[in-house]
Amino acid sequence: MAGDEILVVGAGFAGAVLARELADHGRTVRVIDRRDASGGNAHDSLDPRTGYMVHRYGPHIFHTSSGAVVDWLSRFTAWTPYRHRVRALVDGRGLLPVPINLDTVNGFFGTTLRTAAEMDALLAQHRVAHPVIRTARDYAESIYGRDLTELFFARYTRTMWGRELDAMPASVLSRLPVRRDSRDGYFEDSFQALPEQGYSALFRRMLDHPGIRLELGTAFAHAMLASHGHVFLSMPIDEFFGYDEGVLPYRAVRFRDGYAPVGDLAGHTVPTINLTDGGPVTRRTRWSLYPGPHHPVPGTGVEPVTDELPGEARPGEDERFYPVHAADGGGEALYRRYHARAQALQGVTFIGRCGTFRYFDMHQVVAASLGVARRHLGLPVAGEAG
Ligand code: UDP
Repeated sequence: MAGDEILVVGAGFAGAVLARELADHGRTVRVIDRRDASGGNAHDSLDPRTGYMVHRYGPHIFHTSSGAVVDWLSRFTAWTPYRHRVRALVDGRGLLPVPINLDTVNGFFGTTLRTAAEMDALLAQHRVAHPVIRTARDYAESIYGRDLTELFFARYTRTMWGRELDAMPASVLSRLPVRRDSRDGYFEDSFQALPEQGYSALFRRMLDHPGIRLELGTAFAHAMLASHGHVFLSMPIDEFFGYDEGVLPYRAVRFRDGYAPVGDLAGHTVPTINLTDGGPVTRRTRWSLYPGPHHPVPGTGVEPVTDELPGEARPGEDERFYPVHAADGGGEALYRRYHARAQALQGVTFIGRCGTFRYFDMHQVVAASLGVARRHLGLPVAGEAG
């Protein structure tokens, strides 16, 4: 039967959602992942020492405004509502809200503004007029002016992307909402939550289907192409082609996991703090402040904390996390060359963040994979003309 069997490479959101949708429609699917766990970068597990739930590849907050995506995933999990709030640690000014809001502006300028009109009037004195908004710097300076841009975005972006704001497209910052009031939620979406029993439990249920055969610790090999009816790959598309057109730029993240005495964490009041000092760390997470599920071990006196240290992904050595879409379009042009070659192959489809070089959030990956599955099955896809 191997000839009819579909191969899905990667058991993260992209691969697992696709596999489940195909299996639900009667297909036989083999899912492989070179890691020893499913869930991709959403994988989580309880910290054995303290009993707190830790997302092993950094905090993953689920948010979407798509009812269809929520309905589909809710077959595999209940949800704990959670509205994400972030603070940036700013030299000499303590913790200020990100995205920048009225309180951020007051904290930064030492003002006591109360209304959107007052905030606008103050920012108007600082805004830089850019006739064309192309780079992330143009975008931020035209809204917030030079000082806020430098402190909140330029340094963080340098650490996060290894590039100046001028080298990044506006889209990297336009992910963040622009605020004129004191609302401090990080996302605008109507649905914001964490899976009640964690992401790993969600993936276990999603992949638990008689039509799905899951093989962990199994890397893709080109010899597998011949023995499957269709192959969906969430692996990096340049790796598939042996990097022969060049290496697609990605950022990797090193996670420095540690423990902090509970007494030292009094000032760490939101789960994730952004560090905007231009040092090697972008984010510090105190896991106990996420809703869990936690099973705290009494009396340890410590809590798990994780620092994120981004760096350029070295092909073949580092896991790839963030595709770098530079303002000059270089990465995208290279991706287009690989994509064109992939389209010329029979029975091969690339999916997910690494397969399609997209800065997807989880809900976007779910929607994209459902679309790919339905097209493969010859079913109508929501939002596409029939
Ligand atoms: N960013 C920043 N300062 C911040 C938060 C975000 O400069 O305090 C910029 C940075 O370039 C980052 C981008 O905005 O990569 C998008 O932020 P987001 O939180 O969406 O990134 P993700 O959660 O995907 O890592």
